[in-house]
Amino acid sequence: MLVGLLTFHTQWTKAVEIYKRQNRLYINNVATFLDKYLAGYENSVKEMARVAADQHKFDGDAKSEHTLRNWMIERLRIMPDAISIIHADNKGHFTRLPYVEAASSWEPGKEPWFTLSIENSDAAHFTVSRDPFANKERVITLSLPVINGTDGSNQGVLALNLNMDKSTEILNTAQSPTKSNTFVMTRGGELVINPGYPIDPAKLKALARYAREFRGDFVMDSHYYAYRSITSESWLVMHEVDESELNNQVWNQCIAILWGILFTLVMLFFCWWATRSAMNAIFMRIATSIRNGAIKPTAVEELILEEIHNSQQRQKNIAHEALTDGLTGLKNRRAFDADAAQCNSDPLAYLAMVDIDNFKNINDTWGHAVGDIVLKTVAELGLRLRGLENITLYRYGGEEFAILFNGISQEKAISYLEKWRITVNTRHFRENELKVSFSAGLCQMGRGSLPEAIAHADKFLYEAKKTGKNKIVSR
Ligand code: GH3
Ligand code: MG
Ligand code: MG
Repeated sequence: MLVGLLTFHTQWTKAVEIYKRQNRLYINNVATFLDKYLAGYENSVKEMARVAADQHKFDGDAKSEHTLRNWMIERLRIMPDAISIIHADNKGHFTRLPYVEAASSWEPGKEPWFTLSIENSDAAHFTVSRDPFANKERVITLSLPVINGTDGSNQGVLALNLNMDKSTEILNTAQSPTKSNTFVMTRGGELVINPGYPIDPAKLKALARYAREFRGDFVMDSHYYAYRSITSESWLVMHEVDESELNNQVWNQCIAILWGILFTLVMLFFCWWATRSAMNAIFMRIATSIRNGAIKPTAVEELILEEIHNSQQRQKNIAHEALTDGLTGLKNRRAFDADAAQCNSDPLAYLAMVDIDNFKNINDTWGHAVGDIVLKTVAELGLRLRGLENITLYRYGGEEFAILFNGISQEKAISYLEKWRITVNTRHFRENELKVSFSAGLCQMGRGSLPEAIAHADKFLYEAKKTGKNKIVSR
């Protein structure tokens, strides 16, 4: 909490300091502009004073004086803020341009600028704003001594009256970063250019004292002041900001940031709420669809289902391959062992053992490839001839087959075997002289163990072989 308050205080002070710096920069710019503005007039007056001094025309040469006056009138015209110019010599003669009949009591020698410029003959002087001709036209007088170019003697004073309102305009048109008052005062505490409202002389004196003590800026009576000197350090452009205004600015900035944060939070909450509502709606629809059974599988679901199907198919294939003979496509010995064990408990089941006759001879005569074709052909014919009957063929091993008859009579079984035997025996192969036959032994199952049943069938098969082959023996 304490750390938070301290951080807040530090940040606040920093923010106030930033605004103070902006005000310092502002007054710097205003002062530079005002200084250049006045310096422009100062240079013009200097030039006029030099010309006036070189003319030596205060000794009554009317023609020269006339030329000088015309020249000065021309100069005045190109100085927009200049009201009048006064050319006064130290004998009390003076010319005021544009020409105005002077009040009989008015004497330039009694003017403050005359005294200043006669006494300090080296530089230009500015007076504070006054209304010297009592015509409600406040002016700043810029005065300069007229020095004789030959002997260096002080011949008089040239004074230019500038419209003070124009200078005030400069102060008022510039846009201050903070609500403020800007005015110009002398280092001694006299008001030179005022912004149009009265300023307590005591306050001006105090400001002059502070300005002597602090460089650039200071705080007085809860007001922040930033100042810059102009007109060769004699005037101060004073910028006054109420400290509460600075704090207000920081506070407004805080409020703007807080609004930003609040807006972001509201937006975040809204996004969260909208997403939640949308998700809820989606879930509700899915749930309803599932309940109604109307849900359609999405692409992802389809992919998953397909993958499950494929994997099931792969497993089926693996299982199928494990129980199938690669050459003939019949079920293999492993499948026979499993199936026969089941069939053996059924007294209506029959088992036949089939063995191709003289197969070694076929291999020897036509080669193993032909032997394989014979094996495949015999199996194929056996499969084709069984029709819809419940007859299963197995490759028992080598050129031997086992056949399980399930729920089929002995006659039917014999009939099938006979049909198969004759078909094989009458089959024409590409090898013209190739004749294939097989012998078979058939027995009923379920009378003893499976090996006993197999032994029985084998016994009949052996008998068929012994008694001439190409026949079926059963009992
Ligand atoms: P029998 O009439 O007494 O049955 O005489 P057989 O020649 O058929 O019998 P035997 O058991 O002597 O010969 C079987 C031959 O079958 C031996 C073996 O080389 C051959 N054989 C076993 N499996 C295959 C096979 O997958 N392909 C081929 N081409 N020959 C095989
Ligand atoms: Mg054999
Ligand atoms: Mg054989």
